[in-house]
Amino acid sequence: MGLRPNLLTRRTAGVASTTLALLLSTAAVGVVPAASAFSAAPDASCVGPADVHSDARVKKGGSAKLDPNELTAKQVRERDADLAAALRERANFRAGAGATTLATVTIPVVVHVIQRDSTRAGGNIPDSMVTQQIDVLNKAYAGATGGAPTAFSFQLTKVHHVTNAAWYPIVQGSSAERSMKTSLREGGKNTLNIYLGELSDNLLGWATFPQRKLNSMDGVVALNESLPGGTATNYNQGDTGTHEIGHWLNLYHTFQGGCSGSGDSVSDTPAEASPAYECPTGRDTCTTAGLDPITNFMDYTYDSCMYQFTPGQASRMLTAWNAYRAA
Ligand SMILES: [Zn+2]
Repeated sequence: MGLRPNLLTRRTAGVASTTLALLLSTAAVGVVPAASAFSAAPDASCVGPADVHSDARVKKGGSAKLDPNELTAKQVRERDADLAAALRERANFRAGAGATTLATVTIPVVVHVIQRDSTRAGGNIPDSMVTQQIDVLNKAYAGATGGAPTAFSFQLTKVHHVTNAAWYPIVQGSSAERSMKTSLREGGKNTLNIYLGELSDNLLGWATFPQRKLNSMDGVVALNESLPGGTATNYNQGDTGTHEIGHWLNLYHTFQGGCSGSGDSVSDTPAEASPAYECPTGRDTCTTAGLDPITNFMDYTYDSCMYQFTPGQASRMLTAWNAYRAA
């Protein structure tokens, strides 16, 4: 798994306890109506509340049965139909009110550092790690690491340290997560709220897809030690943030849909049957053209292995921005 033994032990212990918490929270929530599935966008195996989570990044060997790592084909169809509808609405709005379509976007970023106490082990990471994370995002989304440039840059507006043991670790789909976000989220649809902490279920992070109506759950959750200089071996160069923000800007995983259909709804990312981990050489899991896009930020490989978005992904993100998050 590439985890240090002591980290593995600690995280494995955490999984056992948080799995129970997650199941309990699911029982409390009850059955989620299918009608809300599109805005919810959890994958088929996700047991969390449907209006909460979009997609996650997980380490190799993570507890995949609890992870929202993939959408169903139906959820992808519903999301893409909603994007088309949102674009039509925007087009009508533009015709009537003269709103402009943005070509370059600076995203204000509010970072909430969730802590159990004031120690590093308790979640108190230094602000220098946060500023380095923003630098990683700006390089990645500018294409400076080798991929296509995108329209997006990121401007840190606030680092907010919050000590609350009830929110630590951050348990995906829990009432505590909802309470945390409801209490802390700042800004409008265009503001990126990032919540950092120890996470449940061996997850590196999760994010919400954009929605037409702003929801207090909107934002990105990432493992605190995944930031540059963190202790999450192989996942500590900041690309969990890059990946999760890709979801926040409406990207799917490169392995979405496997080898068939429209896959990740982006034409220039070769189809991929399943997530790639670590950094495999020559992986080619589909008979369609192209090797697996293991260097893409929307796969599951090591941070050192992923360095690019494609022009198609850049286009999809900007289209979704104009449909959902632009003022
Ligand atoms: Zn993901």
